[in-house]
Amino acid sequence: MIKYEPVIGLEVHAQLKTASKMYCSCNSDYQNAAPNTRVCPVCLGLPGALPVINREAIKSIIMIGLALNCSISEYSKFDRKNYTYPDLMKGYQVSQYDLPVCLDGYMDLSIEGTSKRIGIERVHMEEDVAKLSHHIDSVSGQGYSLVDVNRSGVPLVEMVSRPDIRSAEEARQYLINYQTILRYLGVSTANMDEGSFRCDANVSIRPEGQKEFGTKVEIKNMNSFRSVFRAIEYELERQSDVLSSGGRVTQETRGWLEDKGVTISLRSKEEANDYRYFPEPDLPPLSISKNWVSEIASSLPELPSTKKTRFMKQYELSEYDSSLLTNSYRIADYFEKSVSIASEEFELGKNSAKSIANWTITELTKLSNEYSIEIYDSKVTPNHLAELISLIEKNVIGTPQGKTVLAEVFVSGDAPTRVVEKLGLAQISNSSELDSIVITVISENPNAVADYKSGKETAAKFLVGQVMKATQGKANPSVVSGIIVEHLKSM
Ligand code: ADP
Ligand code: ZN
Ligand code: MG
Repeated sequence: MIKYEPVIGLEVHAQLKTASKMYCSCNSDYQNAAPNTRVCPVCLGLPGALPVINREAIKSIIMIGLALNCSISEYSKFDRKNYTYPDLMKGYQVSQYDLPVCLDGYMDLSIEGTSKRIGIERVHMEEDVAKLSHHIDSVSGQGYSLVDVNRSGVPLVEMVSRPDIRSAEEARQYLINYQTILRYLGVSTANMDEGSFRCDANVSIRPEGQKEFGTKVEIKNMNSFRSVFRAIEYELERQSDVLSSGGRVTQETRGWLEDKGVTISLRSKEEANDYRYFPEPDLPPLSISKNWVSEIASSLPELPSTKKTRFMKQYELSEYDSSLLTNSYRIADYFEKSVSIASEEFELGKNSAKSIANWTITELTKLSNEYSIEIYDSKVTPNHLAELISLIEKNVIGTPQGKTVLAEVFVSGDAPTRVVEKLGLAQISNSSELDSIVITVISENPNAVADYKSGKETAAKFLVGQVMKATQGKANPSVVSGIIVEHLKSM
């Protein structure tokens, strides 16, 4: 049987969260307003209305281009992409054809520890279309559609990858990375289920070792990272079945059906749109000065990959832990704030960063999932977390008590020290208090003592367990173990 290699290229659209729309001054927040209230002659596509370029949107796309290692064109222009559909008010979309703002970039992925570079062909400026909703009249049973023009003209940035992606998993990571970058830059909410982040996948296969690409299929209608992954996997399988049985893949656009888990043909190449692109006569070409670009470059925030590497070095974290912390800049900020409070206010050493990382990744994340509250929105402040780590490092409480305390702080917002008092969780490290408990436990367990005497050292562990039980887990186990061994040796 011939083995086939997947070849995948992604086209990703992201809505920008600028205050106003791309070519008019309407509010671009199209969701929190009654339908068709955020409209004007420009975005309604009325004849004679003249568009104006949104400077903030251009700044955003330059930020994106820089973050994706693209070159920023000094000269760029807008073009009309013509087609007719009820969601397209003007009958054309103002997009960019041959002179996009950003060209020739790349994104580095880390796949199972090895680095993989995906080329980016271009990033260009577009505008969103109106939103259609489809209904059925309850009386006549007839279908009808409503048009909400609020979304029309909202700035969209399209990013086109080179066909460098080789698996559904690489595609998924590429998308997650891009989403993270957009959020770090603060230019887009990049939310797939809200529609501010959309992806079309181009998929083909070729016999392993062959240089030429096979015929590609474009897949649409995926609404989550998971569905992109599933749609690509399905399509790779389907194409390989077609080729294996002697058939040929037809160039077409297919749609992903989430509930059936399959792709179906939407239109073939012959039915493809001819967009008749031509330069937009109502907008001047864009001239982007080198000065502006370097000004924007110097104001870019630290990007996810840089932050991840820095965290690994500075806090001695594994790549995995570091990426968990830096997947969201808000979690990363939370973590760093807590680390700095731990060292400045609680005077903890360098190792506390690792503990803070661990508690953030495990216990806090567990609570965050359980209550569906983001860590940084929860009642546990970075200060609380540092205080908790300090209580553990100073042996005021043990790790199991720490978990109880954290869960309580998460709910009440009380300071960890107060919670320890309130719940009486402080560890017993006082030797004389422990000493008397140890004496009782030893006298109640003569068998264990005999075992120990006959050389079974594990018997000491059993006795430690009995003391922990007697103190409801509040004894410091290493102190207890020391006292027990001392007693046993002198018996
Ligand atoms: P089109 O002319 O259909 O727009 P492009 O060449 O512009 O095609 O590419 C669109 C997207 O498809 C890009 O992301 C590109 O990487 C990807 N692509 C191009 N050829 C292939 C192929 N043979 N297999 C998979 N993806 C491809
Ligand atoms: Zn408008
Ligand atoms: Mg193309």
